[in-house]
Amino acid sequence: MSVNVSIRPCADYAPEHVEAAIAAALEPLGGLDWVKPGMTVAIKTNLISRMAPESAAVTHPECLAALTRLLIRRGARVVAGDSSGGPFNAAWIHAVYSGAGMSAVTKAGGELNNDFDTMEAVFPEGKTVKRFPYTAWLHRADAIIDFAKLKTHGMANMTCAVKNFFGSIPGTRKPEMHYMHQSLEEFCSMLCDLALYNAPRLTLVDAVDCMEGNGPSHGTPRHMGAIIAADTPFNADLVCAHLIGLDATDAPTVAESIARGLCPADWRGLDISGDVEAFAIPDFKKPPRNRNINFSSQSPWLRAFLRRGFGTGPKINRGMCVGCGKCAGVCPAGAARVLKGKARIDAKKCIRCFCCQEFCPKGAITVHRPLLARITAK
Ligand code: SF4
Ligand code: SF4
Repeated sequence: MSVNVSIRPCADYAPEHVEAAIAAALEPLGGLDWVKPGMTVAIKTNLISRMAPESAAVTHPECLAALTRLLIRRGARVVAGDSSGGPFNAAWIHAVYSGAGMSAVTKAGGELNNDFDTMEAVFPEGKTVKRFPYTAWLHRADAIIDFAKLKTHGMANMTCAVKNFFGSIPGTRKPEMHYMHQSLEEFCSMLCDLALYNAPRLTLVDAVDCMEGNGPSHGTPRHMGAIIAADTPFNADLVCAHLIGLDATDAPTVAESIARGLCPADWRGLDISGDVEAFAIPDFKKPPRNRNINFSSQSPWLRAFLRRGFGTGPKINRGMCVGCGKCAGVCPAGAARVLKGKARIDAKKCIRCFCCQEFCPKGAITVHRPLLARITAK
């Protein structure tokens, strides 16, 4: 049986440490022998927004630079990029590149994606999405490497290798994907379709410094000290969920991958190189469990009661809110708006996608789990 997942220690982001850890993690999976001279390899990184590497919100640029060096030694042309929240154009994305320290990639001999064409992807095999807007630079590459960051996530509880492909959707088209796939299960099924469509040749995870708590943007960095390599994003996420103390029912993308047979039901069913338990952090701080309960079949008064008592949703810290309106700008349901300089959320309209929490520049939005839900869970 060939190795599915490999995990290696990496103490910090010193270039030589990261490069050695990536090379060591890749070795049990056959290394980079598949890379041929002249090939264009796209590194799909996580650049959630214009956030510094120290925030642990983005894949660390030294990881991307180290992988770039390894690929260039094989004769590949390397292009790294992502479609963050916001417009998929040069002005916006280059600002994200500069804030995230992506010049490390160009110093290593790679390129930052400068192709902002979009296209319609057609994927008849998709379970939830068969046609969707897509960033053409990934289509034009000979191979894609998924280089994800391990973080908590308000909606999906964890964001890692599968969720990273939401960034293959052009930024301004993401809200409509949220709106079209409102239930947590359907949204995560859509993410699995995107990962299948992208079919990365290789998956890597930056788990040197992860993000716990109020992820994916405003959580707290937590050191794990690992680089993970995997044959598929589904197998990578199965192991990563365990590393941060989540079981499959707590990580809906993993649950969907298991249900589809894209990974085994338990990470121990994988062929793994390296000691997973040595890196696991059982007390990793998770966001409140998002169940995104569908109350639509109930009567209006019961629906309102259940939503107030049990529904996980975004909560605004009015003291931290500066009234910038970014939450209203990204809200796919028109539920967030700014009134008298402070954000407000209409709970009846809210579809609990947590885009507002993800993109609030002040970290003023958290995932709120009502008291009744917490009591009954216990
Ligand atoms: S994005 Fe954050 S700071 Fe800006 S209005 Fe919304 S809650 Fe307030
Ligand atoms: S208010 Fe926030 S969580 Fe609710 S629909 Fe809008 S962006 Fe999504």
